Amino acid sequence: MISPSFDPASENPQKPAGLKTVLVPAPVDRAYSYAVPEGMGLAPGDYVTVPLGKREMAGVVWGDGTEDVPLKKIKTILTKSSLPPMPEVERRFIEWVADYTMSPRGMVLKMALSVPDALGEGKAASRAYRLADFAQKAREDGNDQRLLKNLSPAKRKVLASLGGGKALRAAELGVSPSVLKGLVEAGLVEVVDVFAAPPCRNPDIDGDKPVLSRDQDAAARHLCKLVQGEEYKTILLDGVTGAGKTEVYFEAVVEAVRKGRQVLILLPEIALSNAFLERFRKRFGCNPALWHSGLTPAQRRNAWRGVAQGESKVVIGARSALFLPYQNLGLIVVDEEHDPAYKQEDGVIYHARDMAVMRAHLGKIPLVLVSATPSLETIVNAWSGRYEHLHLPDRHGGATMPDMHLIDLRRDKPERQHFIAPTLKKEIEKTLERGEQALLFLNRRGYAPLTLCRTCGHRMECPRCTAWLVEHRSSNRLQCHHCGYFMPFPKQCPSCSDEDSLAACGPGVERIHDEVRTSFPDARTVVLASDTADSPEKLRAILDDIREGRVDIVIGTQIIAKGHHFPGLTLVGVIDADLGLGGGDLRAAERTYQLLHQVAGRAGREELKGHVYLQTFLPENRVMQALSGHGRDGFLDVEAQERERAHMPPYSRLAGIIVSGRDEKQVENIAKELGLTAPQGEGLRTLGPAPAPFYRLRGDFRRRLLVQADKAIHLQKLIERWIAGVKIPSTVRVQVDIDPQSFL
Ligand code: ADP
Ligand code: ZN
Repeated sequence: MISPSFDPASENPQKPAGLKTVLVPAPVDRAYSYAVPEGMGLAPGDYVTVPLGKREMAGVVWGDGTEDVPLKKIKTILTKSSLPPMPEVERRFIEWVADYTMSPRGMVLKMALSVPDALGEGKAASRAYRLADFAQKAREDGNDQRLLKNLSPAKRKVLASLGGGKALRAAELGVSPSVLKGLVEAGLVEVVDVFAAPPCRNPDIDGDKPVLSRDQDAAARHLCKLVQGEEYKTILLDGVTGAGKTEVYFEAVVEAVRKGRQVLILLPEIALSNAFLERFRKRFGCNPALWHSGLTPAQRRNAWRGVAQGESKVVIGARSALFLPYQNLGLIVVDEEHDPAYKQEDGVIYHARDMAVMRAHLGKIPLVLVSATPSLETIVNAWSGRYEHLHLPDRHGGATMPDMHLIDLRRDKPERQHFIAPTLKKEIEKTLERGEQALLFLNRRGYAPLTLCRTCGHRMECPRCTAWLVEHRSSNRLQCHHCGYFMPFPKQCPSCSDEDSLAACGPGVERIHDEVRTSFPDARTVVLASDTADSPEKLRAILDDIREGRVDIVIGTQIIAKGHHFPGLTLVGVIDADLGLGGGDLRAAERTYQLLHQVAGRAGREELKGHVYLQTFLPENRVMQALSGHGRDGFLDVEAQERERAHMPPYSRLAGIIVSGRDEKQVENIAKELGLTAPQGEGLRTLGPAPAPFYRLRGDFRRRLLVQADKAIHLQKLIERWIAGVKIPSTVRVQVDIDPQSFL
């Protein structure tokens, strides 16, 4: 578009119009200096394209260039985009996230620019047709009869649809290409480029809203006041599922949009959120700007541009939506703030909820964290007054919480090789008799988690991971749930060669499904797991079937736990409530509580009373006690005390160091050396190296170290110096996970 007036290769370079640094979306930490071509006015934040190596890349002007590179080597900026510049707050946010997560700045920028063609305006456009000026004028003057005289009906139809400068695409005009071609050749119609309208430009903020209860109204007013105030504040919006939290924060969304600002609503599992989107459309009369991995390239580009231009007002997205370059962000909502899906575990390792706190702080805007089961981190901040705590005490409209029962599997035993206890079986019967629906929850895909040889005891393991292979009977395979490895189910034991000696141990949802079909042959059943509902359409169809009462018993994994609203579902049975408690994860109890509470929340969401049965071998465990007695805050309080005593987050800080590579010896040596030079001292210790629980993952050998530090210690600086002191070969990877959520 703009020809560079400065040729870096020439013998005698002219002095460029100036230098600017440009950050590119690549694994680099520094913004590089580039020459500004004559006549190109550039300010920090401008989107540009630059040469990098042999490639041409989009980038962002970061600051004024420094002359640290010989002029001769400096390359010239190629083009400047017509998009408004990335605001300073977004650039500061990128820098902050890079520092916090110890990632190169360019990698964080890459998350903000994750649309390769977004700057290439030609590609974002599509072809449309508009009435030529003279035809338009003829129409306005009322003497277009002559023009229409010899035209076919199809052509007349096109001319009738176009008017007032309107530009429409062929699909919108609904005629064949030859008709349009004819009109263009006759000069009656011209071809123009149009950009797809950015999504969610004019959400209807004066549409129907429900009459809020007193508590809802108070909470909503308070949030609106904070949106007005343009100050940083984090608010925990706390209340059981069905309390009406969404209705409350929708009011804050309205307020922000009324002020002309953008809103971001983060959801943990956006692909599963059809019901939510439906609700949004009902309330705001349009689709939100969506941001998640399932978009087509065109949708992505369109949403990205809408956000960058400040045209798209409400974005609903997965964690990565936090890094979009908003023009004018005025409110962030993190729904289900406790959800582990907010943690990104590879590339730039970050926790979207925690980063959102800093984004709100930098932008001087409110952040609303929403949950029925807040994370311990969040609740401790609410207790201490760092966050505001808004509470909605009841379910909306008088629906009550389900009653909760524990089934002690030591006494109330299922039959041999079965997994549903007699009590639960009876409850399913009663539910079916009443014409209501039951959900059996087990967070495990497939038929059986372990396959064992009855003759020699051999366990079927993944050859590339420290993990058992899971039997999937429907496809007659053994699968690794960590790396995707699979094999046909063997006839013989690979170790002792005995025939038909391999036995399934423990249940997955497929096995529960078998048991249900035998026990309730007349019931209509469905299995809902990520591999049975492997496309959005399939998932939607299954969810519709359940909602509309075409299914009696649902057997599901956590895919069913989130957000769904099934009016006829009154019984929830949890097959193995103890499942998440093993493994020694810091947050095992908290996570189990959150997940089971959420599953329980599927029961009795309307007038019909809900009943929940938890099958457990540990009825005295405090998670089970808290669930059966609705004692959430008591449970969190004990959890908090234990963490404080153990000097664990949120009362200290952790960083995980993961050393991995193909060569076991090399990995071990580097880990050992890191161990020997590890930071130790006042308020600080390093544990490990130890083999990671997944000692092998996808063929890599892995070792872990864990740094535990007082909150006052600047952990990142320390770790940076430490790792820089060890020479790490390119075949070994050292990843730093600040505030780790997973210890695998
Ligand atoms: P939460 O987000 O706390 O789980 P929701 O906002 O989804 O709760 O509300 C639960 C159900 O109650 C939804 O169907 C919602 O439309 C309805 N609801 C909530 N508040 C009201 C209200 N004030 N008037 C009418 N319906 C409401
Ligand atoms: Zn594997």
